[in-house]
Amino acid sequence: MMRTAGRTHPNVEVIAPGIHFVQTPLVNWTVLSGDGTLTLIDAGYPSDLRRVSRVLDDVGGELTTVLITHGHSDHIGAVRGLLAEWPDAAVLASADELPNVTREVTHQVGVQDLLPSLWRPSVMAWTARAIAAGGLADVGVPDPRPIEPGREHRFSGHRVIPVLTPGHTPGHLMYWLPDHGVLVSGDGIVTGHPTSREHGPHVLASMFNHDDPVAHASMATVLDELPVEVLLPGHGPWLRLG
Ligand SMILES: [Zn+2]
Repeated sequence: MMRTAGRTHPNVEVIAPGIHFVQTPLVNWTVLSGDGTLTLIDAGYPSDLRRVSRVLDDVGGELTTVLITHGHSDHIGAVRGLLAEWPDAAVLASADELPNVTREVTHQVGVQDLLPSLWRPSVMAWTARAIAAGGLADVGVPDPRPIEPGREHRFSGHRVIPVLTPGHTPGHLMYWLPDHGVLVSGDGIVTGHPTSREHGPHVLASMFNHDDPVAHASMATVLDELPVEVLLPGHGPWLRLG
């Protein structure tokens, strides 16, 4: 059962009861609310901290959980700042992704990977904006915990099933909300990116992916196996699938 999305805030779309989607020009995140608690799925760039905090305040409730799709700086950037405000919140990611989240390792596109494409104005402009947003900052999260993929969990009153979807990073997770047919797809499936003119569900350009063929296989498997009605991607607008 999906409703037409309504607006409660200039940046927030209510996708279904208790599911709030925030799209910014550079990256998106999702807030789940219910039972008086809040669950944040991804946390933007370091420079998004105030924006994320304001959305949490607007939705209202105690932040108890931060679910991470993957440990890139535009998805975990505000986590450390949020933990200063909500020290008891648990930060969860797949076991395979934890080294990326703590920054023991960094499977992320760097300036050297972008060099062959920097002649393109869109790539040059995006790189400058990403760096200004804190894309090269130290964003390691001190104590993330593993969450088991494929098993049903409950967060802020919602059934949530993490889906292991490697490729973009080794331990990328999407989060499936079966009660509303909503898939929070992180960077495993996007619908747009400032460096691309591609629309609709797709995989990011290969330079952004740890293992490009595996990323494509993960997207195909998920769309084949899950009855997705609404896609909430890490980049680009949310999308209702026919
Ligand atoms: Zn990413």
